[in-house]
Amino acid sequence: MLFRLDGHSFHRFSDVHEFQKPNDVRALELMDHAARSVMEEYPSIVLAFGESDEYSFLLKRSTSLYNRRCSKIVSTLTSYFTSSYVLNWPKYFPDNPLQYPPSFDGRIVPYPTEKHIRDYFAWRQADTHINNLYNTTFWALVQQGGQTTTEAHATLRGTFSKDKHEILFSRFQINYNQLDARYRKGSVLVREDIQLQAIPDPEPPAEEREPSTGDSTPRAAPFATESKPSPVEKNEKKKSKERKKGKPPTTITLLHCDIIRDEFWNERPGLLA
Ligand code: ATP
Ligand code: ATP
Ligand code: MG
Ligand code: MG
Ligand code: MG
Ligand code: MG
Repeated sequence: MLFRLDGHSFHRFSDVHEFQKPNDVRALELMDHAARSVMEEYPSIVLAFGESDEYSFLLKRSTSLYNRRCSKIVSTLTSYFTSSYVLNWPKYFPDNPLQYPPSFDGRIVPYPTEKHIRDYFAWRQADTHINNLYNTTFWALVQQGGQTTTEAHATLRGTFSKDKHEILFSRFQINYNQLDARYRKGSVLVREDIQLQAIPDPEPPAEEREPSTGDSTPRAAPFATESKPSPVEKNEKKKSKERKKGKPPTTITLLHCDIIRDEFWNERPGLLA
């Protein structure tokens, strides 16, 4: 299952909130932050790819999340992403208070084969490149070339990639391939096993420890014992359940790398398993 969300009318949202053009790095980092929150909450997600106002999430093939009910998954994940976006807004835009509540649309697409998944991610990253090359050239013509937006659209009408590279280089001394990879490649969030040899085992919760003979000191319970566990407690319980099942702890890494060629996938055979 592939889950994608996209900002609703972010053309307007980015105007009202004065995003820098062509790429507001604060907005991109906030998107990455919200996507990471979703992945931390949902261990079924193994990979995510973000650009502009959209993010795509790959759920592992065997997931039993919400019994695989699409409506439940789409509505809960979209809502979780949106509230994380709003919650963390002030960290990224301390000087631009939110003017109205942003919203995102969400959808799930089932892709039957590994090839479909590879093609999907390649399609999104190719889209990132095409949009970024266009937008970078467009805004160079406006901001540095003094053209109106109408003139810049006209200048770019019918041009190919190589023409845009040429405009950027000869008129604005911009070497497109040297721009920040974040803009050219988008954001890749990948779940990876923590290398156990590198990081010491965490102290197991008291309930998992062998009863130690000769040590009668009562140990503090690892969590309070109210009837309804808090989200943190739930998370701790889940983690200790995973440790019992022998699932290695994972970490989420942010990359701005190529995901079209084989290398990325060959190095991570678990993603499509
Ligand atoms: P829809 O509701 O159909 O998705 P939309 O206005 O959100 O409409 P998109 O095709 O999703 O249209 O495009 C998102 C727009 O948001 C971009 O064209 C751009 O203007 C703006 N935008 C999103 N992220 C950024 C960013 N980091 N920096 C600058 N502008 C951005
Ligand atoms: P699920 O994710 O399956 O919906 P849930 O914990 O949200 O699980 P619900 O059946 O939706 O379960 O019940 C919502 C619960 O939230 C209520 O049982 C109650 O404990 C609490 N709750 C919601 N609104 C209020 C409120 N206004 N005042 C007090 N408690 C409330
Ligand atoms: Mg859209
Ligand atoms: Mg949008
Ligand atoms: Mg979009
Ligand atoms: Mg409820």
